Amino acid sequence: MDDDLFQQSLRYEVMDQIAGKCAIADEVILAMKSVPRHLFVGEDQRHAAYRDEPLPIASGQTISQITTVAMQTGLLKMQKGDKVLEIGTGSGYQAAILCELGYRVYSIERHKKLYLTAKENLSALGYKDAVLIHGDGFDGLPRYAPFNGILITCGAPEIPEKLLEQLATGGRMVVPVGEKLQEMMVVEKTDDKNYTTTGAGYFRFVPMLKGIVN
Ligand code: SAH
Repeated sequence: MDDDLFQQSLRYEVMDQIAGKCAIADEVILAMKSVPRHLFVGEDQRHAAYRDEPLPIASGQTISQITTVAMQTGLLKMQKGDKVLEIGTGSGYQAAILCELGYRVYSIERHKKLYLTAKENLSALGYKDAVLIHGDGFDGLPRYAPFNGILITCGAPEIPEKLLEQLATGGRMVVPVGEKLQEMMVVEKTDDKNYTTTGAGYFRFVPMLKGIVN
């Protein structure tokens, strides 16, 4: 078996395991079977790419555990063609899954180095429509707002105000809120000024920090 087939079989296996233990929409599992996680990490991490664990990437950051990526993507509950903003591009892995699902993807990363690598990773794999931005996710992207969905992949101190403003009415934000441990919150915007929140379990993310790193 060549390396790609080997990686693919490991990938299918871990995705099927996750589908068996968590209630995740089939389309999310299918999309995750298509995205080669091992190509979003350095060569020294490839052997671990299909373990259900977070993996280190550059600038002291991590790609979330596979189950966490599956859960966040599932909680977003978007439809093909929906406009989705991700905060925390990191390696670009989560953004690739959102592209694979047919969403119109925008993603912001504060570390320039990660932004540049993610751009390369996504374009090498043919995900050329994703709009990647080097910036501070706390500001969102007012010029592209409103978004049907906003997915935050770092731990936010609270629900970011400006991002809430940039969410479409009827839209959903999935955001881990808290300092050391984060509660996954699903925020549904019911009208211009109102929203509801639902907790979806506890997770550990790298922190959402202000400002950019060049
Ligand atoms: N979604 C990524 C994993 C991200 S880890 C992936 O699939 O690989 C969280 C990322 O959020 C880190 O890269 C971190 O630099 C970034 N981040 C933290 N605070 C941010 C902010 N204010 N704006 C944009 N990105 C931020």
